[in-house]
Amino acid sequence: MPHATRMPAIFFGHGNPMNAVQDNAYTRRWAALGAALPQPRAVLCISAHWYVPAAAVTANAQPRTIHDFGGFPRELHEVQYPSPGAPDLAARVAQLLASVPVGLDQGWGLDHGTWSILVHMYPNANIPVIQLSIDETKEASWHYEVARQLAPLRDEGVLIIGSGNLVHNLHTYSWGRHEAEPYDWAVRFETMARELLLAGNFAPLVAYETLGRDATLSAPTPEHYLPLIYVLAQHHKHEPVSFPVEGFDGGSISMLAVQLG
Ligand code: ZN
Repeated sequence: MPHATRMPAIFFGHGNPMNAVQDNAYTRRWAALGAALPQPRAVLCISAHWYVPAAAVTANAQPRTIHDFGGFPRELHEVQYPSPGAPDLAARVAQLLASVPVGLDQGWGLDHGTWSILVHMYPNANIPVIQLSIDETKEASWHYEVARQLAPLRDEGVLIIGSGNLVHNLHTYSWGRHEAEPYDWAVRFETMARELLLAGNFAPLVAYETLGRDATLSAPTPEHYLPLIYVLAQHHKHEPVSFPVEGFDGGSISMLAVQLG
C-alpha cells in the first residue's frame, strides 16, 4: 500500500512502568512526538517485554492490555490501551520475514513496553498496533538481519517502534530516586553509542557484546537493548539520526530515544 510519507523509525527508552501514568519530562516529549509526526496507518512495536523462544507477531483484532509487572499501584494496573490490532499487517510482517517461521499469535497483546509509550503518543488509542516478539534464542546479528526485511513497511505508513532502554541495569537502579546521578559507565556507554549513531556506524552497536565492561554493565541482559537493533536496521543511507528524548533515570536507565528520519 503506497503512502505519501516515509515514516520515521524510533527507539524509545520506556524506563519505569510508572511513566505510563505520569506527566514528566519524558512523557511530555512522547506526547509531543505523537502530535508532530505524520499520522501512521499502524504501529509495529518490538518490545523488550515480549522476549520469548520464538518469532511471533500479534494477529488478534483486539489485543488485550497486558499488565506484565508486579508491585505497582492499582492505578497502573487499571490502565487500558484499547487500540485495535491489525491482522492484515501481522500477515504482511510474516510475509516479509519469509525466511523465518513467524507465528501468528492470538495469546499475547500489548505489554507495558508498548502501551506505556503509546498512551502518551496516541492517547486516543485509535491507531492499530501490533507487536513482533524478540526471539531470545538468536544472536544480535540475526536480529539485525531479520529486522532489515521489515524496511518496506516505512513506505507503507507503518511506524516501527523499538521499546527498551539503551542502558538498563536494575541491580544498580535507584528506585524512587529519579534524580540519582548517572553512573560513569552508563554515561560513557551512552556517549559512545550516540557518537556511533550520529556517524551511521551501527556495526559496533550490533556487536555490542564485544564492547567491553561499560557495555556489559549497560546491557547485562539483551532484552532491553535488542529493540534498538530492530530500529537501526531500518536506516536508509544518509538519513538523519536524532535524539528526541534524553536523560537518565535512577542512575542506570537511559531514557534516550533514537529517531531515524
Ligand atoms: Zn522494561
